Amino acid sequence: MRYCARCGSEYQDSVVDCTDCPNHPPLVSAEEMHERGLPLPHELDQRRFVRAGVADDPVTAQVFVDVLDEHRIPLIVRPGRSGVVDELTTGNLLPWWELLVPDTEQARAALLLEEEKIQTRVYADEAARAAEEEELEDERARQAPADNSAPPAY
Ligand SMILES: [Zn+2]
Repeated sequence: MRYCARCGSEYQDSVVDCTDCPNHPPLVSAEEMHERGLPLPHELDQRRFVRAGVADDPVTAQVFVDVLDEHRIPLIVRPGRSGVVDELTTGNLLPWWELLVPDTEQARAALLLEEEKIQTRVYADEAARAAEEEELEDERARQAPADNSAPPAY
């Protein structure tokens, strides 16, 4: 059997990548899953994975994955649509990606994701402010020549 290290799905040996995940990550062996601290599907109930956070889009999901990888927290990213909840009743309200970690790591992981979210917001604010300042400077540059070039009235 082969496994997706991203969502934890199990596949036949003939399958090379995961059809459920974005960018179709290559599947890995059971040994590699264990090396990464990830449970195989039939082991899931022995090791409880709980939600550490959700991401509304694949970019955010990837950022979160990187953060948790960095801190070596085992992680399963489950597409929201593959949950047990009927799509008809929830529509687009379901989070795009659910990030699952071992319950023993949940508090740490949730904190890391929260910090990451705040940081992302700060970056966005800074970028907005920089763009605004640039605009102001452009405005000043356009006005400057007009101020100086006006010939004396007499
Ligand atoms: Zn997958």
